[in-house]
Amino acid sequence: MIQPQARTVGFKRGERNVFFHILTACNLSCSHCYINPEEHGTEMATRDSLEKWLKLFYDPNKETNVIFLGGEPTMHPDLPHAIRLAKKQGYASVTLDTNGFLFHDFLSQVKPTDLDFLSFSLDGPRPEVNDQLRGHGVFETCTRNLQKAVAAGFNVSLIYTVSRYNIQHLHEMAPLLANWGVNRFFIQVIGIRGKTAKNGADKWQLTPEEWLAEIPTAAAAAAALGITVTYPKVFLEPNEKFECAGRVAENYFIFPNGRVYQCPLCEDYPVHGYMIEENRLIPNTGFTETRLFGLDIPEGCVINRLLQPENLSYDAAGKPLYKVSCCLLKQEMKGS
Ligand code: SF4
Ligand code: SF4
Repeated sequence: MIQPQARTVGFKRGERNVFFHILTACNLSCSHCYINPEEHGTEMATRDSLEKWLKLFYDPNKETNVIFLGGEPTMHPDLPHAIRLAKKQGYASVTLDTNGFLFHDFLSQVKPTDLDFLSFSLDGPRPEVNDQLRGHGVFETCTRNLQKAVAAGFNVSLIYTVSRYNIQHLHEMAPLLANWGVNRFFIQVIGIRGKTAKNGADKWQLTPEEWLAEIPTAAAAAAALGITVTYPKVFLEPNEKFECAGRVAENYFIFPNGRVYQCPLCEDYPVHGYMIEENRLIPNTGFTETRLFGLDIPEGCVINRLLQPENLSYDAAGKPLYKVSCCLLKQEMKGS
């Protein structure tokens, strides 16, 4: 049998990805939530802002993709309107990331053709694994709605955020996904931001050895069942070139308070590169993330070096043992 092979998905020139947090409120209170109300505010983008900001970030000369997220985006009553508008505007793909509660009768408000991807977040193959992180009863609701979405004809994917609390159960996911009819599997690494940063990063984070021992094998098991798997690269091979997405790609992480980041690792700090003011995108002043993107260091990602130095290891001469890749660089294993 031919083993599925991972390939690195390099940054595409001429592509723009718009990660649109349309609100920060959520019905859940996950223990690893990345939302930080002190930095991201507590407001909801108005219907007018949804319309104007979708227009602001759309570039007809680029392959522009939008990902709606939150908080829980289905709590926003104007989400179906924003999804349809994004399609009409010409976005190349429209994705929704949800915790699975699908408020406002979401599945009957949009058609499968309105959305390219409907992604459910689930962090365990069973309630006792998932619900310790995401809350009591969440597994049951999320998986029930996921199966309803598949039955209704949506293109359903699943996001599993790997931490020390659930890595040992990742390998149980592949048969479940195949059984539910999920055709894309996104494995994320826990980000040290929001609540995770406050609750002791060392309790969550994985070592390179743990990551490399589990993730490619679990990905291959899912790919062998026909599921396409995407997961972060995290550690570069010695011959691989480091690239910072802030320098070579176009990603915008928009929050309803008007902050716009280009690097998700920076979201816990007031160093956003841009602001939306009066529906115009303007560069932020002072010390911003933008100043760091151009720095070349032997460890790879500068922000990782500053915020998560415990991820790094050095030899006796002080040379890094490996480079940490941009957190936005992915590996893909196609379903076979
Ligand atoms: S579902 Fe998402 S936004 Fe809501 S609490 Fe969990 S991580 Fe935070
Ligand atoms: S994660 Fe690191 S490499 Fe990627 S955009 Fe941020 S600073 Fe650049």
